[in-house]
Amino acid sequence: MAGERQFRGPIDLHAHSSVSDGTETPSQLVRAASAAGLGTVALTDHDSTAGWHEAAAAARTAGITLIPGMEFSTRVSSASVHLLAYLFDPSDAGIVAETARVRQARLVRAEEMVERIGVDYALTWDDVLAQTTPDATVGRPHIADALVARGFALTRSEAFAGILHWESGYYQPHYAPDLLRAVGLVVAAGGVPVIAHPATRGAGDVIPEARLARLVEAGLFGLELEHRENKTAAKARLYSLATKYGLVVTGSSDYHGEGKPNRLGENTTTPEVLDRILQQATGSEPVFA
Ligand code: AMP
Ligand code: FE
Ligand code: FE
Ligand code: ZN
Repeated sequence: MAGERQFRGPIDLHAHSSVSDGTETPSQLVRAASAAGLGTVALTDHDSTAGWHEAAAAARTAGITLIPGMEFSTRVSSASVHLLAYLFDPSDAGIVAETARVRQARLVRAEEMVERIGVDYALTWDDVLAQTTPDATVGRPHIADALVARGFALTRSEAFAGILHWESGYYQPHYAPDLLRAVGLVVAAGGVPVIAHPATRGAGDVIPEARLARLVEAGLFGLELEHRENKTAAKARLYSLATKYGLVVTGSSDYHGEGKPNRLGENTTTPEVLDRILQQATGSEPVFA
């Protein structure tokens, strides 16, 4: 509707439920967002849209706007890069096929990691399954929860700092599509792609300007620069590139319930930026409360 906003702030565009590695169901997450004083929240589970339906119903009841989204696992050579995708068509064949492939690869990879960990710690695949919901996108956080349940770590964060760290010897990568291709898939499905926490590596080496220019040509729409894990220097560099290439800048919490210290609304996105995202999207509708 021209000139009339149907959503309210504050706006948090990155949160996980138990459909991936958040600790709350989609309904609980939406209620937590409302209780935290947010007017709009995006559900962005890893490589899955399975929570959209439940979250939509909860948003209508709670009186909060829901932006359906996903955090797509992608790669730039060997580095893992997360791509937030908003308001795409969840039944798009390209997205459905690729996310199914990633979820399957994550499952095999988690089992292989648990096999390696099991050599040194009394941890089994059943311990991990006990920490997941049916059809959830499985990741290291579920292995972390199993390690905590078995007493090998006190918290998820402690497990990530030790046994699950990428230098621990137990770590293993999993298949994910190339970032440029993933941007194309999201755009083809009518969605709006925004690179999640792009400045976590410090130097910003994964996204040099020439690569960013190609991503923008493919339809990249924004950068999530207001996120607690972004490093100051890389963030400043990407802010100036965002201006140069006309990219929007978002801010979000990356809430995982009790699984991470990130709190809902700790970073937010401006209404102007959400307006631009809504104008760009053609794949699905927000749920306006
Ligand atoms: P994976 O994609 O399976 O390699 O696991 C990475 C996921 O674990 C990301 O979604 C992070 O949000 C989550 N994660 C990373 N570090 C931590 C931590 N210290 N505590 C809890 N979750 C974490
Ligand atoms: Fe996560
Ligand atoms: Fe992420
Ligand atoms: Zn996330």
